Amino acid sequence: MVVQVQEEFTLKRMPTGFVLGVVIVCLSPFVLTLLGFDFGNHTQELVWSELPQLTATEQTNVLFYRLPGAFTHALLEWTAFCAALFTVLLAFSQFRMSGDVTTPIIGMALFCAGSMDAFQTLAAAHLIDDDVANQDLIPFTWVIGRIFNALIMIVGVGLFLGKGVQYRRFGTPFLLLVSLLFILLAYGIISYCAHSDILPQTQYPDNFITRPYDLIPLLLFAFAGLYLYPKFYRQQPSLFAHALIISAVPEVVVQLNMVFGSTALFDHHFNIAHFLKIVAYVVPMLGLTLDYIRTYQEQQRSAAALDELNQKLASSNAELAASNAELEQFAYIASHDLQEPLRTVTSFLQLLQSDTDTKVSQDGEKYLSFAMEGSARMKCLVEGLLDFSRLGSSQTDLQRVDSAAVVQTVLQDLEVSIRDGAAQIEVGRLPMVQADKNLLYQLLQNLLANALKYRADQSKIHIKAEWFEERWHFSVQDNGIGMEQKHHERIFQIFQRLHGQNEYSGVGIGLAMCKKIAERLGGQIWVESELGVGSTFFFSLAAVR
Ligand code: ADP
Repeated sequence: MVVQVQEEFTLKRMPTGFVLGVVIVCLSPFVLTLLGFDFGNHTQELVWSELPQLTATEQTNVLFYRLPGAFTHALLEWTAFCAALFTVLLAFSQFRMSGDVTTPIIGMALFCAGSMDAFQTLAAAHLIDDDVANQDLIPFTWVIGRIFNALIMIVGVGLFLGKGVQYRRFGTPFLLLVSLLFILLAYGIISYCAHSDILPQTQYPDNFITRPYDLIPLLLFAFAGLYLYPKFYRQQPSLFAHALIISAVPEVVVQLNMVFGSTALFDHHFNIAHFLKIVAYVVPMLGLTLDYIRTYQEQQRSAAALDELNQKLASSNAELAASNAELEQFAYIASHDLQEPLRTVTSFLQLLQSDTDTKVSQDGEKYLSFAMEGSARMKCLVEGLLDFSRLGSSQTDLQRVDSAAVVQTVLQDLEVSIRDGAAQIEVGRLPMVQADKNLLYQLLQNLLANALKYRADQSKIHIKAEWFEERWHFSVQDNGIGMEQKHHERIFQIFQRLHGQNEYSGVGIGLAMCKKIAERLGGQIWVESELGVGSTFFFSLAAVR
C-alpha cells in the first residue's frame, strides 16, 4: 500500500484512495437523503405579538434561535473561503521555489472565487453595507459567484493551454498583473451586487428546475472537469492539476443540488451544496499541499546533491593541486639534475670534435655533429622545462605595474630581431595594471618574440589594451603565418609545436609559460588566428585596485 501511494505520488496523480474518498463524500449526501436525513435549517415562525411580554434576554434568545440557517451558511461559506485563502498562499510559496507562475495564477483564480463567497457571507450576515434583502441577495450572489468561479477557473487554466504564448515563463510582473485583474473583476461584481436596488429572481421553488441560473455554472464545471482540466493535466502534469480534475466532481454535485434540489434559503439541498463547495476547494488545496511538499523535498535533495558534488569537487581540486605540485617538483628536479650529465656529454663531444689526435672517419664526423646538435637541443629543452617548473614554485608579487613601460623594455630587448625583420611596431595606450612585473615581462616577451618569429614578409605588429567586462584585455596582433582553428587550444600545451625545427627554431614552451603566467596573474590567454592572415594573442588582467 505504501509503495502504491509512493508510486502514484511520483506519477503526479492523487492516490486512488483519495479520489474514491472524494467520490464517496460527494455521493453520501444523496444516499443520506434517500435514507431520510434532513440537513436543512428549520425555524418556527416568530409570533411578534408575544415578544413584548418577554424579558430582554428572552427576546434576544428568541431572535437568536431564528438564525441557525444564517449561522450555518456563514460557517460553511467562511470555511470555503479559508480553504481558498490557504490554497493561494501555498501557491505563492511554491512560486517562490519553482518560479513557475501557473500554480499561483490558478490559485489566485480560486482565491477570487473564494472572495466572492466571503463577500456573500459578510453581506448575508450584514457585516458589510449592502442595499439588498437577503432573500434576493443570497441566491443571486450565489449564482453570480458560481458563474464567476467556473469562468475564472476556465480563464486561469486556459491561459496555460495551447502552444502559442508561453505565459508560464512570464514571471512575477505577469503574475501580479493577472492577479490584479482577477481581484478588480471580483471586486466589480461584488460591488454591483451589494449596491443594486433590485436583483433578479433566481429561485423558482415550484419548477422542476428550481434554480435555472445555476445551470450555467453546472455546464461550465462539467466542461472544465471533462475537457479543460484533463487537457491541462496532460500538458502540465502535477498533483495540483490532477486534483483540479477531481475537484470538478464536487463542483458538479454542488450545482446539481442547487439546480434540481434547493427551493429556499438554508434548506436541505442548499446546505449540502454549501458543504460540498468546501470539498471542491479543499481538493485542489490538498493537491497543492502534496505538490508543495514534493517540490520542497526535491529542492532539499538537489541541494544535498549539489553539496556533495561541491565537496567532491573541492577534494578533487585539492588532489589535483597536490599532484600538480608534485609533478612540478618532479619536472624541476629532473631538469635540474639532467643538466649535469648533459653538460658532461656536451663537453666530451666538444673535446672529441676539437681533438685532432683522434682519427674520426667522415661518417663519424657527421654523427658527431648530429650528437652535438642533439645535445644542444636537449640543453634548450631542459632549460625550458626548468624555467617552466620554476614558474610554479616562484612567488607572485602583485603590484601596480605600468604595462607601457614593460612593453618598452621588451621592445628594447628584442631590438635586433625587430631590425632584422624590419618590423613595424605600433603600440596603443597601455594602462596601469595589477601584476607581477617580471611575469608580465616574460609574457609580453614571449608573445612579441613569437610575432616576430612567425612572420610573413613585412612584419606588422600591433599591441594594445581594451577595457572589457571589468578587466583589461591586452592583444598582440601580427600579420604573420597564422594557424588553423584546430590548433588554437593545443599550442598552449607544453612542447606542442606546429612546425619542425628546420622551419622555425624553438622548443614549444613559450606559450605554455604564457598560459601559466596569465593564470597566475588572475587572467586568461587565448588566440584568434587564421592561416596565412595572422594571429592575435589576447590576455586579460585585472585593473589597479
Ligand atoms: P615555440 O615558439 O618555441 O615553438 P611556443 O609555445 O611559443 O613555442 O609556440 C607554440 C607554437 O605555436 C609554435 O610552434 C607555433 O607553431 C605557434 N605559434 C606561436 N605564436 C605564433 C604566431 N604569432 N603566429 C603563428 N604561430 C604561432
